[in-house]
Amino acid sequence: MLSKRMQELSPYVAGEQPRDRQYIKLNTNENPYPPTRKVAEKLRNFNCEKLKLYPDPRMTRFRQVIAEREGVAEEWVFAGNGSDEVLAFCFYAFFDSVLFPELTYSFYPVYCDFYSIPYSTVPVKADLSIDLESFLQHKEPVILSNPNSPTGMYIEPAEIRSFLDRCDPDRVVVIDEAYIDFGGESCAAFLQSFSNLVVVRTLSKSHSLAGLRLGYALASPELINALFTVKDSFNSYPVHTLAQELGVEALLDSDANLKNRQRIMENRSWTAESLSEMGFKVLPSMANFIFCSLPGRNGSWIYQELKKRGILVRYFDREKLKAFVRISIGTRSEMQTLLGAVKELIGEVT
Ligand SMILES: *Cc1c(COP(=O)(O)O)cnc(C)c1O
Repeated sequence: MLSKRMQELSPYVAGEQPRDRQYIKLNTNENPYPPTRKVAEKLRNFNCEKLKLYPDPRMTRFRQVIAEREGVAEEWVFAGNGSDEVLAFCFYAFFDSVLFPELTYSFYPVYCDFYSIPYSTVPVKADLSIDLESFLQHKEPVILSNPNSPTGMYIEPAEIRSFLDRCDPDRVVVIDEAYIDFGGESCAAFLQSFSNLVVVRTLSKSHSLAGLRLGYALASPELINALFTVKDSFNSYPVHTLAQELGVEALLDSDANLKNRQRIMENRSWTAESLSEMGFKVLPSMANFIFCSLPGRNGSWIYQELKKRGILVRYFDREKLKAFVRISIGTRSEMQTLLGAVKELIGEVT
């Protein structure tokens, strides 16, 4: 009954979204703070009448607001239903083959399988950081997540710029900046110098809008046009009217989000410090999560023990990652609860 293509699919496995009981959810890097007051107000005042029409297929207003923020023309912006969709379109539009780090966002190989795009991976360094120099020994287009997931580790834009300087100008380089707003600096500043550069972002994490599904890409008009061609060959209206309007409001109200991002960064530092004091090895993170391990234990054990105590984190069943858990940064009180549970499970409670 099923197509051959279908029988060979192996989908991405998203973090648990349990419905059975109330957990402290630190497993999917959602923002623990609510969307801003202005976004909530916009939602309350939304005129339902508008839904009788199809949404704007070009997402004009939303793209204009992004273009203004970035200081580019609107032809440099594409937007879609979450950055996962934007990334899926990038894979289709730009890659006949592709190169990415051995350890990175696990959706990348899934897109490759979906479209039958051959891919190669570049080993990470011993400290799990990305070895950008090694990418120069290959010719294929590149996709990188910066900061990377699940490690949280960050490459300085100067290093990426020096990489772009030495790349063939036709070699597409996609930088997935899903976590760039938690202390990192964007590569969008290089767009005018490199017409092969694509920067992909999302409102899911930085703007507390994971449930609304909004992501976007910044690139030269030739590449952006290709993304529109892919979208219009698949679904003309992937982003509904309400999402477009709330997205505009969220972007215009970014200052309010900034405070929440600062709180997340503060929570990140003291959580990392506290875990280190308890004997954890914590990788340096520029994202809204930390990646850490406890000598003598593996990630799945930590995951199980925390789950028993009502806290969800994420572990990864791969050789180089299996010692670790990835812990999303929640509110201060959620992190206090986490640290209490950790203390208990390593037997420090007297
Ligand atoms: C969360 C995440 C995304 C997807 O974000 P959405 O916009 O919610 O689809 C993309 N890339 C990376 C690296 C992520 O962690």
